[in-house]
Amino acid sequence: MKITGVKTYVLQGMIEDQSFGWSQRVTRTRQSVLCEVSTDEKITGVGEAFYFGGPAKIAANIISDVYGPLLMDKDPLDTSVIWDSLYNWTRDQGMKGVTISALSAIDIALWDIKGKAQGLPIFKLLGGAYRHKARAYATGLYEPQNVPNVIEALVNEAVGYKEEGFSGMKLKVGYGIDKDVSYVKAIRQAIGEEICLMVDANHAYNSSEAIQLAQKLERFDVYWFEEPVPPEDLEGYCEVRKKSNILIAGGECEYTRYGFRNLINLRAVDILQPDLCAAGGFTEIMKIVAMASAANIPLIPHVWGTNVGLAASLQLFANLPHFPERRFPAEPFFEYDRSAHPFREEVTLEKFVMKNGYLDIPERPGLGINLNLKFVEKHAL
Ligand SMILES: [Mg+2]
Repeated sequence: MKITGVKTYVLQGMIEDQSFGWSQRVTRTRQSVLCEVSTDEKITGVGEAFYFGGPAKIAANIISDVYGPLLMDKDPLDTSVIWDSLYNWTRDQGMKGVTISALSAIDIALWDIKGKAQGLPIFKLLGGAYRHKARAYATGLYEPQNVPNVIEALVNEAVGYKEEGFSGMKLKVGYGIDKDVSYVKAIRQAIGEEICLMVDANHAYNSSEAIQLAQKLERFDVYWFEEPVPPEDLEGYCEVRKKSNILIAGGECEYTRYGFRNLINLRAVDILQPDLCAAGGFTEIMKIVAMASAANIPLIPHVWGTNVGLAASLQLFANLPHFPERRFPAEPFFEYDRSAHPFREEVTLEKFVMKNGYLDIPERPGLGINLNLKFVEKHAL
């Protein structure tokens, strides 16, 4: 089989009155970068590049202008060989960030082709399923804009997740320690003790502030504290982790086995959170999973995109081993973004529905999805 074409789609939609904020900024738009790789055997694969912050078209340009020409006539089943050659092509100036997100989208599309060519879901190609459904936690509880009472709005949202059947949810913090504590206190009171509550500062603090916050949040039984400090501050992560009784999570801003090597070797986090659509796709994340398992550090993927990224992450999630294996292993959580998104579900023909707190993991070939081309082509920039 040979690769005959690479196409990208940059999608953008406004969320207007549902705009939301977190510790870094307020957003009124959502953007996505999808890529489609076609072959001479009429099998096409689809992938998504994790987009956040910069113009999504940068990732799309890297896919179409830099990697696209290098992919022509290559065998799409040679996923490792292709990954290494593309990475090496941009290595000098592209070891992290948007370059690796672009590479991730291509790698995911190639694995989709590989699965479709063999008639198997990707989790089978990765070695099988440790689970066939994913226990979802709700990512939401961003700072709502233009509401009369933020705490009341957050409490209503949290209670809504509980009523929908979520057994866990994640709240944004990083607005200042007192405000953070007041949000966590109100939500914990509203949802009761049974539901897992996580907090995410999106690297808003230095290590001393983060330690202070972690200690103040202990009495509210917070399950993990995500991105307490900036991703470059690995010593800061270690300081926070040593002085916090709440688990420390991080990794959504880290890339490739080389980046995760540092987080793992320093034991900077209790939970690693690589994003499949950012850290390097299936080929690379399986290496990160192997490193994490050798260090016995649990890995809970970061997931934040459209149904394409979600479908890919579910395939990975099926194949995530327990760290460590034991008779009664802890069941990992799957991140299910519930924040406002104008086209998250529209880009695929298949829909994902949570039932009793779980998402089914598709058993169809490849990623188990088909792009809704009519929608995607109509809304692409
Ligand atoms: Mg996060």
